[in-house]
Amino acid sequence: MQLLLFGAPGVGKGTQAKLLSSKFNIPHISTGDILRQAVKDQTELGKRAQEIMNRGDLVPDDVMIGIIKYRLSKSDCNSGFILDGFPRTDKQAEELDKLLEEMNLGDLKLVNIFADEEEIVKRLNNRRACKECGHIFTLTEIIDINTCPNCGAKNSFYLREDDKEEVIRKRMEVFRQTTEPVLKYYQNKGKVISVNGLGSVEDVNQEILKVLS
Ligand SMILES: [Zn+2]
Repeated sequence: MQLLLFGAPGVGKGTQAKLLSSKFNIPHISTGDILRQAVKDQTELGKRAQEIMNRGDLVPDDVMIGIIKYRLSKSDCNSGFILDGFPRTDKQAEELDKLLEEMNLGDLKLVNIFADEEEIVKRLNNRRACKECGHIFTLTEIIDINTCPNCGAKNSFYLREDDKEEVIRKRMEVFRQTTEPVLKYYQNKGKVISVNGLGSVEDVNQEILKVLS
């Protein structure tokens, strides 16, 4: 099973990727992770990527594709994989298609976890983190706003930078601009499966499994 996981910031894409990865026993390939790994391993491509990133530039498509090719050629990808964070442009999507054909890795499906922007903003804005234990709660889970239900710390709740409305809206804007062309590319090929991301983690997971089967 070859999957591409797609979803706006705050929609729980990473969590779903992990669940699917253990359910189907296929690797969760996050581009951020494999890029860091390539740099750490000091592979040829890793060194090039590092140089480019040190200059503050974006890693070009050919380097990214090379790093992904290297990762997909490992034996744990034989029965499938979940890509997360790539492709980010329709050009990259084309390159990825070519690569999968070349490597005989079969067709992929894009799982689009969508949610209404206002709902995401509301959901994230209603979260509070405990600065003592790091646990994240929604306001409805907190009975006494002065006491952390997890560690008992007093007055330890705060709104994380990433959960602030203006930060969320900015990230959503970037997400829309960069990923819409990619979504269109796969839609035109009839490869998109859409799932509503607003339920609980379990509900969304069940929904994905249902549409995949
Ligand atoms: Zn706590």
